[in-house]
Amino acid sequence: MIRVDWGLSGMTPTLEHAGYRDALAGIRTGVPISRETALQLIRCPDEDLAELLAAARAEKERFKPGVITYSRKVFIPLTNLCRDYCGYCIFRRDPGDPGAHTMTPDEVVEVARAGEKLGCTEALFSLGDKPELLFPEMREKLCHLGYKSTLHYLEAMCELVLRETKLLPHPNPGLLSAEWITRLAAVSPSMGLMLETTSTALLAPGAAHDNAPDKVPAKRLRTIAEAGKQNVPFTTGLLIGIGETAEDRVDTLVAIRDLHDRYGHIQEVIVQNFRVKPSIPMANWPEPSQGEMLRTIAVARLLMPNANIQAPPNLNAPYYEELLEAGINDWGGVSPMTPDYINPEKPWPHLEQLRLRTEAKGFELRQRLPVYPEFLPAAMKKSGVLAEKLRAAKTDDGLARLERAA
Ligand code: SF4
Repeated sequence: MIRVDWGLSGMTPTLEHAGYRDALAGIRTGVPISRETALQLIRCPDEDLAELLAAARAEKERFKPGVITYSRKVFIPLTNLCRDYCGYCIFRRDPGDPGAHTMTPDEVVEVARAGEKLGCTEALFSLGDKPELLFPEMREKLCHLGYKSTLHYLEAMCELVLRETKLLPHPNPGLLSAEWITRLAAVSPSMGLMLETTSTALLAPGAAHDNAPDKVPAKRLRTIAEAGKQNVPFTTGLLIGIGETAEDRVDTLVAIRDLHDRYGHIQEVIVQNFRVKPSIPMANWPEPSQGEMLRTIAVARLLMPNANIQAPPNLNAPYYEELLEAGINDWGGVSPMTPDYINPEKPWPHLEQLRLRTEAKGFELRQRLPVYPEFLPAAMKKSGVLAEKLRAAKTDDGLARLERAA
């Protein structure tokens, strides 16, 4: 039973409504909907929402029946210094700010080992984008650690985690050149970069990305395309509620689909909702309604019927069931020990809770690796310690061998 504010109440049957009905009637199992249909469906009125969600859920069941996956991870915030100033970000710091920190190699290994003991299989490296380009303090710190740049340090820390633990690194370092994609792909089976949005309007003065040089959509599309050329399993997604329109959401999803159609490397599409925090520049910005969130997930599923689609449970608590009803097939990375540093006020659900609620909806909850089963063959072609670790970590069906009862 859906218990949320759909945010589009009060619409009356009109010609426009007939358009939604036609769009719903035109959905064909296993066939991706067009951009035009997606533009209709993302604005569908409340009275048609249940039908839209049912269509999305049916596609999820055709794609991956009976199972919802998650990645048991530790979050490694390698540095929270960042040269960008996104209006919604609570993670970033300037040097000297309270809480500004760059982890030492010992701290990295300590977190990874603790996660290993709790059955984690993913070390998610999250960090600010190239802080040394803006801050001499970061250049000094890196020099003291013995590295030329944040990316050189990240590469070494991925290698360290790979060597010292059973965890598999999944770096999220921001924009990357072709050379850096090659280098990081040698020490991690998959990586990620949120596209967030294709809207350039968010770069305007006062908008979410007005002081965020790394959030220019064309640059992010270039990084994701480069990963595709190199056949690197890649996680991306969109962030909704930061000033974009419903049309922008569809265009962002279509851009991701186009990249996957071209290169076949998008292993996961995240639909993430903006959550407000008191200390961010966008502290007075309205959050997207749950109706908007569910419509976006459902449209993502129908645009990409064969994609892994996830939505973060901690940003949508307590409405886990509704996310399942909208067609997700994965909960993303969930940590039994480290907080969500990007949204620290939203704790991850207890894994036992997540399992019980997933099972109550009729699904089995399975632990996966940071790289999805269908993308493992590409990752397994790598040589050396990475391939060895992958072989040791995976089951015959490509999920996590270290799987633990949640
Ligand atoms: S969202 Fe990422 S790129 Fe933007 S300020 Fe925060 S850490 Fe930097």
